[in-house]
Amino acid sequence: MELPYAEPYKIKMTEPIRTSTRAEREEWIREAKYNLFKLRSDQVLIDLLTDSGTGSMSDRQWAAMMMGDESYAGASSYFRLKETISRIFGMPYFLPTHQGRAAENVIFSALLKEGDIVPGNSHFDTTKGHIEFRKCHAVDCTIDAASDTQLEIPFKGEMDLGKLEKVLKENPREKVPCVVLTITNNTAGGQPVSMRNIRETAELCRRYGVPMLLDSARFAENAYFIKNREEGYADKSIKEIVREIYTYADIMTISAKKDGVVNMGGFVAMRSEELFRKAMMFNIMFEGYITYGGMSGRDMDALAVGLDENTEYAQLDARIRQVKLLGDLLDEYGVPYQRPAGGHAIFVDAKKILPNLPKEEFIAQTLGIELYLEAGIRGVEIGSILADRDPETHENRYPKLELLRLAIPRRVYTDNHIRVIAAACRNIYERRESITSGYRITFEAPILRHFTVELEPVKR
Ligand SMILES: *Cc1c(COP(=O)(O)O)cnc(C)c1O
Repeated sequence: MELPYAEPYKIKMTEPIRTSTRAEREEWIREAKYNLFKLRSDQVLIDLLTDSGTGSMSDRQWAAMMMGDESYAGASSYFRLKETISRIFGMPYFLPTHQGRAAENVIFSALLKEGDIVPGNSHFDTTKGHIEFRKCHAVDCTIDAASDTQLEIPFKGEMDLGKLEKVLKENPREKVPCVVLTITNNTAGGQPVSMRNIRETAELCRRYGVPMLLDSARFAENAYFIKNREEGYADKSIKEIVREIYTYADIMTISAKKDGVVNMGGFVAMRSEELFRKAMMFNIMFEGYITYGGMSGRDMDALAVGLDENTEYAQLDARIRQVKLLGDLLDEYGVPYQRPAGGHAIFVDAKKILPNLPKEEFIAQTLGIELYLEAGIRGVEIGSILADRDPETHENRYPKLELLRLAIPRRVYTDNHIRVIAAACRNIYERRESITSGYRITFEAPILRHFTVELEPVKR
């Protein structure tokens, strides 16, 4: 008999999770103004809000924290991280920041001016927030296939080179400070971008003299998909693939809370010394001195080890298999989601489950609340609440897709938890006809409203 698959690690420490009744959850979600971000984590059984900063660190990462050098300037932790970044990504200059959006803040402060245009493949919400905050425009050049949730293609997160070239052709060079390529494409469902598309995007950028910035939160998962799905990469190691990816990039920003497998941290790295000098000033202003930015010495050490460990095939394989398990179970139960399963999450297709709910009543948010009520599982809306209002017209933006993202934290839940999630989705799917009304907004912030929005049921 062929032996079944098992994870390449064992568990050294556990953390209890609290169960609850439906009546308790009804009260808690009402108190949270129907915003899943406002729930206390002990009111949640399985927390799939995000895979950001929620992973379990390895014993080697914890051990490395004890070696942290907390010197204000020139800490040895900084140099250990610098060596790792230059070895893994080949980037000579970097600035540590407290997380990904801080890296965006630093680099966009150095690069963007009012009225600029920043094309990309589905900019992440904080990326778009930082672009629009500076009165610039984020132009989405994602391939159209990304919005057809039932289409199975291997690299569904790609940049449409035709759309990108149109933007580059129609705008003067000085209005386009960079092109952002996000790997994997989080917003489109954790879908990867092929090496070929990375290379061709870079070539197009070079032809127009525009730097290419890789938004790199899930760079290692993207490399895993390249290895498994793209011709010519099966025999290459994840580290070799990552090295090649970054030969095409001029700048990278990263939320280390994802594929760095740390609870906090990020950085921006670049090839240009001139840009580094410019960005340095903003790092000092917003984050901290250039050798620690927003991070403690111990956090930089944990990140250096995390980057090394999580660019090994077995780690990524265990993770992506678990995400796929959830996808396979949903297939068995007929629950529609963005296909194929992504690297870090399953994006349940809320519009397909609740086709009669008007978009004005926030379809994916409604499904997210139902899943919480059903089983205490917390996902996150990737739909019209997240899409915010148009910065000029102030009208609500209704994206093509209304998705409920179920993000799987790294090395945190077992396959039994995954089975509970799938069963809860199935139960809702079976009673979908009974969900006939959604929610309306009673409070919203002018930017990134989803974090603090308050809602009430349309029908009471
Ligand atoms: C998480 C994420 C960010 C922002 O990083 P934070 O650490 O949350 O500030 C930017 N881009 C992508 C693609 C991300 O997934």
